Amino acid sequence: MALIVHKYGGTSMGSTDRIRNVAKRVAKWARAGHQMVVVPSAMSGETNRLLALAKELAPAKETESYSRELDMLAATGEQASSALLAIALQAEGLESVSYAGWQVPIRTNSAYTKARIESIEDTKVRADLEAGRVVIVTGFQGLDELGNITTLGRGGSDTSAVAVAAAMKADECLIYTDVDGVYTTDPRVVPEARRLKTVSFEEMLEMASMGSKVLQIRSVEFAGKYRVKLRVLSSFTPWDIDINEEAASGTLITFEEDEHMEQAIVSGIAFSRDEAKISVLGVPDKPGIAYQILGAVADANIEVDVIIQNISKDGKTDFSFTVNRGDYAKTVDLLKEEVLPKLGAQEVVGDTKICKVSIVGIGMRSHVGVASKMFRVLSEEGINIQMISTSEIKTSVVIDEKYMELAVRALHKAFELEQAPA
Ligand code: ASP
Ligand code: MG
Repeated sequence: MALIVHKYGGTSMGSTDRIRNVAKRVAKWARAGHQMVVVPSAMSGETNRLLALAKELAPAKETESYSRELDMLAATGEQASSALLAIALQAEGLESVSYAGWQVPIRTNSAYTKARIESIEDTKVRADLEAGRVVIVTGFQGLDELGNITTLGRGGSDTSAVAVAAAMKADECLIYTDVDGVYTTDPRVVPEARRLKTVSFEEMLEMASMGSKVLQIRSVEFAGKYRVKLRVLSSFTPWDIDINEEAASGTLITFEEDEHMEQAIVSGIAFSRDEAKISVLGVPDKPGIAYQILGAVADANIEVDVIIQNISKDGKTDFSFTVNRGDYAKTVDLLKEEVLPKLGAQEVVGDTKICKVSIVGIGMRSHVGVASKMFRVLSEEGINIQMISTSEIKTSVVIDEKYMELAVRALHKAFELEQAPA
C-alpha cells in the first residue's frame, strides 16, 4: 500500500464523461489498496473563459486589487472540477471529499496570479485518508497570510500536485495529461521524436524552461528540491488497463544517481521562439559596464537569458543579450533613453526574428565534443550561429528563426535521438 498523488489536467477533466473516467481510474487505484490524493485542474477552457469575462468588464491591469479578483475568480474553476470529481467518486461507491486550497490550507505568499506555496497543512487530508476516503485537493490555488485566495500561475496545478506530494511524503506523484510523456523533442516538428522512459530532473528543468510545455517549470523545481518521484503519463489510456502496466507507463523524472536511467549523452532538443536579441554597440571596455546595462534591465523586471560580450578593439566592445520577445520594445527603449547616454555607447540594435535551439543531456558532463558536434551539424546545414551559451548539461544556440525546424530535425538525427540508447 502506498500514498499516491494523481494530478489530472484540464483536458482530462474536460467533460462529465471524462470526469467519470478519471473517477473510475482513481477508484481502480484506491481499490488496489493505495491511499489516494487527487489534484485536478479546472475543466479545459474554464480558466480562460473566466479570465475573459473579467477582461470584458475591465481591461487587464497589473494592480493588486484587480489581480486579487482575478485569483478569486479563476480559483472557482478548480473548485468546481474538484467537487464534480468527488461526486463522481462517490457514484463509484467510494468515500470521497474535496477541499479548496484555503480549506487544506495550502499557504502561499500574496503575489496574486503567480503566488508561491509556502506550506501545506496535511492534518485534515491525512485524517481523511486514514478514514478510507479519497481526498481531492484543488489545483492552482492557495491562501495568503491575510486570508485572500491566491493562484499559482497558469499551469499551476502541476505545482500544487507536486507540493502536496512533497508535504505528504507521497510515494509517487503521477501527472496525467493529454500527452503520454516527455519526448526527445516536439513530435510536431520531428515525427520520429521518441518518448523518453526516464529523464533526469535537471534535464527536465532545462527542457521545461525552454518551452517543452509538458509541466509547469515550478513543479519540476519543487520535485527536485523535495525529491518527489514524479511521472508524466497519459489520461487517455482506457481506465481499466492493468494497474502495473499503467504505473510503469509515461516518463519517469529521475534523480541522477538512479541507475535505471537511460544512458544517452543528449536526451532531448528544446527550442523556443520566445526570445529577441539586443546588442549595445561600441561600449567602452571598462569595469562596471555589464552592470550598468544589465542592472538597468533587471531593475525594470526584465529577464535576461543568453549574454555575450566580445573582446575589445580600441577600448570598445559590443555587448549582446536576449530577452523575452514581449519585453523587446521596452528593453530597447530603456537602453536608448536611460543607458546609452550614461554609457557613451554608440548604438542599440536588435532582432526579434531569432530562436533558441538547445541540446540537453546530463551525459554532456562527462563527454567532450558534444557541443562541437552540434556546431558541425548546423554548419553542414548552412545555419549561421549568432550566439552560444552553455551550461553543464546544455548547449544553446541563437539562430535565425526561419531555420528553427531545420536545425531541430538535423540535430535530432545527428544525435540519433529516434533510437533508444543501448
Ligand atoms: N486551470 C489553471 C490554468 O488553466 C491551472 C492549471 O490548469 O494547471 O492555468
Ligand atoms: Mg498543464
